[in-house]
Amino acid sequence: MEKEQYLGVSVSSLTYEEIIADIKKRIAAGKKSTVIAVNPEKVMAANRDPLVKELINESTYQIPDGVGMIIASMLKGGKIRERVTGVDMMGRLLRFAAEEGHGVFLYGAKEEVVSKAKENLERQIPGLIISGYENGYVQDQSALIQKINDSKAVLLFVALGSPKQELWIREHMNELKHVKVFQGVGGSFDVYSGMVKRAPAFFRKAGLEWLYRLIKEPKRIKRQMALPKFVLKVLASR
Ligand code: UDP
Repeated sequence: MEKEQYLGVSVSSLTYEEIIADIKKRIAAGKKSTVIAVNPEKVMAANRDPLVKELINESTYQIPDGVGMIIASMLKGGKIRERVTGVDMMGRLLRFAAEEGHGVFLYGAKEEVVSKAKENLERQIPGLIISGYENGYVQDQSALIQKINDSKAVLLFVALGSPKQELWIREHMNELKHVKVFQGVGGSFDVYSGMVKRAPAFFRKAGLEWLYRLIKEPKRIKRQMALPKFVLKVLASR
């Protein structure tokens, strides 16, 4: 599979459609696939914590979520020119699931968030079957695993924040008999529930989603400092 490397972290150069086509083949072959969103903040975290690096690099698809990944690719002669965001990847996968008749399970976020996300998604995507959901604060893990297995869902979206969701996926992947596609989606259920608004299209198209979020939440500056540090490190790397 096509990958680029930034500071020891793999990043997939596939588009949304190429990932969907590949996943379709892998499902037909009975293989499990994992999707993880990579941004400068996560690459910097991976450089501090070998476990985070391992979680990213062992995933099937490391999607370039964030303009920082495009900058890195341009600086290093890679071919990534468009973002593949976690929230939009989830949207594409949901449409794919609806077309193929695959059931979907949503795990994570607060009860009112995940139930509202389910309701909105089923209304927006014709044919979508959300065969089960659970909030991200339940304690009984074996009941949860049973519930996901009973739902026969083929796609599972886990919204517990990073790296908690990726650790959860790694720990339970093999107990989940029917699930073939796993994606850790952070705050995406909050977006689909309508409780958190995405940046207006102008900011998104211009690659300025970070600026919009910074204006709305100035304390994000600390997290966003990862971007210039990341770009400098990539430039200094061979
Ligand atoms: N969350 C959860 N259980 C937990 C901790 C967090 O379900 O034990 C949910 C939280 O309600 C929110 C999401 O995980 O919906 C975290 O989203 P955030 O945007 O913080 O994730 P990021 O993408 O920044 O890692």
